[in-house]
Amino acid sequence: MVFVARTVRALSLGGAVAALLVGTGAAIAGWAWATVLIVFFVTSSALSHFKHGTREARIGKIVEKGNERDAFQVLANGGVFAGGALLATATSKPAWAVAALGALAAATADTWATEVGTVAGGLPRSIISFKPLPAGTSGGVTVTGTLASIVGAAFIAGVGYFMGVGRAPAAIFAGGVLGSLADSLIGDTLQERRWCDGCSEATERRTHYCGRPTRVVGGVPGARNDFVNVVCTLVGAGVAAIVAR
Ligand SMILES: [Zn+2]
Repeated sequence: MVFVARTVRALSLGGAVAALLVGTGAAIAGWAWATVLIVFFVTSSALSHFKHGTREARIGKIVEKGNERDAFQVLANGGVFAGGALLATATSKPAWAVAALGALAAATADTWATEVGTVAGGLPRSIISFKPLPAGTSGGVTVTGTLASIVGAAFIAGVGYFMGVGRAPAAIFAGGVLGSLADSLIGDTLQERRWCDGCSEATERRTHYCGRPTRVVGGVPGARNDFVNVVCTLVGAGVAAIVAR
């Protein structure tokens, strides 16, 4: 599975190692958990590849990372899920299972929002000020992207229920939607914002596509995309566990 992903360049080498870790964690937790993870990975990678050229043209200059998922990105999206799945199996406490799926629902909602939202187009607006933002800017939301995030959260809640590991689909769905919302809110406030003086362009990259190093102009220095994704999945896990009680 990881080998196939690596071959089709859905993962960088470090990303492949991290995916192997997350995948092994899910496999130890049980085949149902591993299946849920594979469904997440295949659907999200398929969305990333769909109309990749269109997305790259729209947001490639702004976003921190390209199409290949690297180690931190994989761990940021799948780490909380794998940890929760292992705890669910080790302790037989259903709250851990709901938390794990809430984390994955949040990661899915966030990923689908970005992948579908950027291809569908539409003017992204700041989730806080509603001011228009360049496509690809963290914290920018579109109507289509928001709908995609809701469908993504519902999808994982459904898959978890179908596989018999998540018996509180409504709570998992709520975790996914609110986790993704937290991602946008933090992306619009705390996330580090950078600037290239050479091109006078905003970016999330440390080195701009022109080759120049960029500088921090806003947010909390060091609070990058992976950090925001970890918070997104933690909020998803926490909300799902609380709602399920
Ligand atoms: Zn530049």
